[in-house]
Amino acid sequence: MQTADVVIVGGGIVGASVAWHLTEAGCRGVLIVERESHQGKGSTGKSMGGVRAQFATKPNIQMSLYSIPFYASFDERLGQPAGYRSQGYMFVATKPSHLDYLQTNQALQKSLGLTQARMVTRDEIVATVPQLRADDVLGGSFCPTDGFVDPYSVMVGFTTCACANGATLWRSTEVIAINRDGSGITGVETTRGPVSTPVVVNAAGAWAAQVAALAGIELPVEPMRRMLIPTEPFDGVSHEIPMVIDMSNGFHFRPESLGFLLAWNDPEETIGFNTNFEPSFIEKVLTRAADRVPCFENLAVNPKRAWAGLYEMSPDHHCIIGPLDEVNGFYCANGFSGHGVMHSPATGKMVADLILHGSTDVVDNVEVLSPARFAKGELLHETAVL
Ligand SMILES: Cc1cc2nc3c(=O)[nH]c(=O)nc-3n(C[C@H](O)[C@H](O)[C@H](O)COP(=O)(O)OP(=O)(O)OC[C@H]3O[C@@H](n4cnc5c(N)ncnc54)[C@H](O)[C@@H]3O)c2cc1C
Repeated sequence: MQTADVVIVGGGIVGASVAWHLTEAGCRGVLIVERESHQGKGSTGKSMGGVRAQFATKPNIQMSLYSIPFYASFDERLGQPAGYRSQGYMFVATKPSHLDYLQTNQALQKSLGLTQARMVTRDEIVATVPQLRADDVLGGSFCPTDGFVDPYSVMVGFTTCACANGATLWRSTEVIAINRDGSGITGVETTRGPVSTPVVVNAAGAWAAQVAALAGIELPVEPMRRMLIPTEPFDGVSHEIPMVIDMSNGFHFRPESLGFLLAWNDPEETIGFNTNFEPSFIEKVLTRAADRVPCFENLAVNPKRAWAGLYEMSPDHHCIIGPLDEVNGFYCANGFSGHGVMHSPATGKMVADLILHGSTDVVDNVEVLSPARFAKGELLHETAVL
């Protein structure tokens, strides 16, 4: 029988980061099990690649404060490209309550050491994106170290380096059972045969609840479709602009290749594994795009290039990280609620720390992210969800 020190279920960006952080810390017997023939077929390959520290809660900000500098040095540290572009995130406020909200968040961000985030005036916003309709804009916030990465490259980089450090990746292999006895995890059954291991990491993204169920555990992670629209080449707006978020309706966009990537979270979306792209979504998004940036009425979109993927929603929109009290040796790296790319470096470090040392200093109090918080009713509250 195969043996491993740690089996990671899921070879997306999160599983890959956990594997790299474990092997960097000296743990060599790491096995990543991915059921698809290629990595990235889950949410990682569908992501918008946005990274930001402009959040409303301490754990999310602290995870970004580990992750963004990590991305800035990724190429040098791993010898692999992350595609990090520090073009910033600019939140555009149209109501006094938006400005209050951004100011409150910024006070917390600054208290935790994020010095670069600042409030911006309407004039500064217009100077950044002169094509923006600003008659109702009151101001906003901007952080220049926020930006974008290439999620696929990051996942490949983490995996390549983890494997160079001794980890193993099994593709086209599904974990179909998780074995435990009275003292905890004893192994997993896979479509390639059994593996004996004392530690399992659930890095199964939107499918995390199903993997937890294999160990007899209920994990509150639900899939939710999100759609993205890449435009055809368009040079009516600079490609150096940040991610721009219209707070009046949640429409956001960023430059991508020769065009732009347009996003809007449809409030009518329901829970489920549907990943079909809905063509009527294009009209909804283009209406909002042209409303905020009038020259976007000239954008061309090829519906065949648009896509849908899954957010992995937790009840409080925060990730679920840490060991399960009920099953010794079962660790969660789940429930990112749409922030799994930006938080994958921090997650890898935290999970590796917890497995190897039982504690981590990436966030002040990792217990607040533990799966046990739901049963205790100790939910967090993140409102800066895009
Ligand atoms: C449209 C869209 C836009 C997004 N934009 C952003 C963004 O701008 N910034 C950001 O940070 N995040 C964004 N996200 C979210 C981000 O993509 C996810 O949070 C992140 O990719 C999660 O990574 P993961 O490795 O946990 O999951 P995944 O990439 O889904 O990987 C999980 C893997 O587990 C495998 N698996 C599942 N069950 C099993 C099993 N039983 N055995 C073996 N393998 C199994 C799956 O095949 C899959 O490959 C976006 C998501 C979508 C859909």
